[in-house]
Amino acid sequence: MAIVIKSDREIELMRQAGRIAAGARSVARQMVEPGVTTKAINKEVFHFIKKSGAEPTFLGYGGFPASVCISINDQVIHGIPGSRKLAEGDIVSIDVGATYKGFVGDCAMTVPCGQCGDEALRLIAATRQSFFEGIKFARHGNRVSDISAGVQNYAESQGYSLVRDYVGHGVGAKMHEDPEVPNYVQKGRGSPRLVRGMTIAVEPMVNAGGWEVKVLPDGWTVLTADGSLSAHYENSILITDGEAEILTMADDL
Ligand code: MG
Repeated sequence: MAIVIKSDREIELMRQAGRIAAGARSVARQMVEPGVTTKAINKEVFHFIKKSGAEPTFLGYGGFPASVCISINDQVIHGIPGSRKLAEGDIVSIDVGATYKGFVGDCAMTVPCGQCGDEALRLIAATRQSFFEGIKFARHGNRVSDISAGVQNYAESQGYSLVRDYVGHGVGAKMHEDPEVPNYVQKGRGSPRLVRGMTIAVEPMVNAGGWEVKVLPDGWTVLTADGSLSAHYENSILITDGEAEILTMADDL
């Protein structure tokens, strides 16, 4: 599969899809408080996306049963909303996609539920910062691996590890397009050139302990193998000649 370079018209639709996805992420994060069920958050996200004229990209994707992934504490990604109630001190990763006029916005963030410990807050902040350290290198002419190195060097400097089994990705008419955007450098492997008009989702998944993960018997929920906390932060971005444009922009980014 080749990397798709978006036209100006497609980029404008990506901006609109991105704004809806970011709005849905805001809806979800504002609901994070002790006692709230994850299915209640999913319901509001679904309604927000639909009333915005978009479709929830995740719903039915590969059989995923909800509009948002909600992953708590040692859960890394792909948590399925349900009757679990959020508890004081949980860290809650929200990942959501919206499809608008055929184009996808994909974004995620981890938020604290009530009062969280300092270690948890430090992990959340470092994960977010690792995204911004990575996208400093996201510009025309660089390579995907320059982004990977930016993410990895920062997160590892903070004492954390990067999940390897799951990676960022091109995003556009499909949620997952080429290229893969790993959060670590694969030594000895070539890496695609970044070209203006490419749209990619950069999404560090950062573990407080080791990088290894496992999947629950539900077939979806990914959690850290050692039970350590994990955080996630993602935006869809546009490659330009200058700084990358964040397509999933919101006030609470
Ligand atoms: Mg993604």
